[in-house]
Amino acid sequence: MTFRLLLIPQLLGLSLGLLDRHRAKALTRSLAIWLCRISLQCLSRPYRLRTEPCIIFAPHQDDETLGCGGLIARKRNEGLPVHVIFITDGSASHTGHPGITAGEVGSIRRREALAALAILGVESCAIHFLDEADGTLKNLAAGRESALVARLAGLIAWIQPGEIFLPCSPDGSSEHDAAFGFVCAAVVQAGVQPDFWQYPVWSWWNPGLLIERMIFNQGYCVQPTEDFQPIKTRALARYQSQLEPIPPWSEPALPPGLVHSCNSGHEFFFRFIPPLPGVDAAGTPVI
Ligand SMILES: [Zn+2]
Repeated sequence: MTFRLLLIPQLLGLSLGLLDRHRAKALTRSLAIWLCRISLQCLSRPYRLRTEPCIIFAPHQDDETLGCGGLIARKRNEGLPVHVIFITDGSASHTGHPGITAGEVGSIRRREALAALAILGVESCAIHFLDEADGTLKNLAAGRESALVARLAGLIAWIQPGEIFLPCSPDGSSEHDAAFGFVCAAVVQAGVQPDFWQYPVWSWWNPGLLIERMIFNQGYCVQPTEDFQPIKTRALARYQSQLEPIPPWSEPALPPGLVHSCNSGHEFFFRFIPPLPGVDAAGTPVI
């Protein structure tokens, strides 16, 4: 008994230590995000609307609104064509949940995407679901990969975009990173040369990635979302399955801090200049 009593202060101290570490980590991340945001606002130039069709690529149903909701609303408000291409079915956001199946999650997220994009003004004929199984992009079999790239290339060639938007690479998500590679390959296959803009999603949760983007990207721009903030907020709210915990889980799929970072008055886009066919990213000919 005495031995146990002696352990209590140590256990309490350990708990407080862990709590402090947890708090310190959260505080450090918030500070880093804030510094990145301030730096980006100072260094960016305003985004200038282009009138050609644009494509927003989203590996999952919510990425497009988190990263580009204000931009989409602004373009649609001007009557400009915006297509959204969802690459996966989004079914893996609640893997292991005891009360909901992957199929049910996929159906819910599809309905949420349609509702969110309706609020942003995107026509249903401009919303494309490719329905690759969520969580598999990184390890797609070669045949499946080339089929996906061909489907993407077909859509790109049909839409003839002047610019495309896709999550950053790296973005702290293996699915996002894999999607980036497929889109690059598809653009080459489609034989078009749109402007590439990367938008951060999970990078907001890994500020080191944002710093990397600031150092290595050729240019970046900012889209103030003030005028369209209420529309973006309403659209985001449709992603209830991602924003709110599904019992018995007590945590939502998306950390609230990440959602706040994506919806706090500005959207940032990083320019990416893809290597020419037959040349790698460093400009070296690929033999
Ligand atoms: Zn995603």
